[in-house]
Amino acid sequence: MARVELNQVRKAFGTTDVIHGVDLQIEDGDFVVFVGPSGCGKSTLLRMIAGLEDVTSGEVTIGGERVNETDPAKRGVAMVFQSYALYPHMTVEENMSFGLRMTGAPKAEIAERVHRASEILQLDALLARKPSQLSGGQRQRVAIGRAIVRNPRVFLFDEPLSNLDAELRVQMRVEIAKLHRELGSTMIYVTHDQTEAMTLADKIVVLREGRVEQFGTPLELYENPANAFVAGFIGSPK
Ligand code: ADP
Ligand code: MG
Repeated sequence: MARVELNQVRKAFGTTDVIHGVDLQIEDGDFVVFVGPSGCGKSTLLRMIAGLEDVTSGEVTIGGERVNETDPAKRGVAMVFQSYALYPHMTVEENMSFGLRMTGAPKAEIAERVHRASEILQLDALLARKPSQLSGGQRQRVAIGRAIVRNPRVFLFDEPLSNLDAELRVQMRVEIAKLHRELGSTMIYVTHDQTEAMTLADKIVVLREGRVEQFGTPLELYENPANAFVAGFIGSPK
């Protein structure tokens, strides 16, 4: 089970509070999108869910276990960033298998997982290439492939498509939706693209200055926005 729960999560950097007591329950297998203006704390929340950043108070649990008390290798979380830092000297196949090789997984298992991920992402024909020989969209697929091979319970995406041009963004959005259907993993996805949010999300979290303004399905937010701020973000008439 990969239910993700945040209970009264606060985060301060120095004396500045950036996350103010956030409560969230994300069901196993849900696709949840975080939206909100730049600086409202989306990345900080994701990093706390990943266990990459400590909470100042409160707790984050995945499958009932506190993230900061779980061995990083056993958290079952994989994160995909906007700047897909691939290793330039390694092939696509090596880039995808590197993290797994570090865990000491058996060779045959690594090969099988890379094979499966490259099938899902249609990277089969590109496995021997170096990142410099790939398009932006292909590189981003490799970055997602690196996450898939780790077989995570929870995928965290931090504006993964914002460096791509409009056409590729649409294409990748469709692929990410397909990935969610095929893998059934819990996915938490940060974007400021309203279309991405509305089309990908089972539920949307609207954030403002470190607080949750509203949490609901795209339809709920569209038809019944909690306030003008939410309406402005979702594009409904209120
Ligand atoms: P978003 O991803 O929504 O743009 P962030 O989570 O990156 O927002 O940042 C939320 C707030 O926390 C911002 O005011 C940012 O300047 C601040 N912040 C983020 N990381 C740090 C840090 N390591 N040290 C100090 N302040 C930070
Ligand atoms: Mg951010």
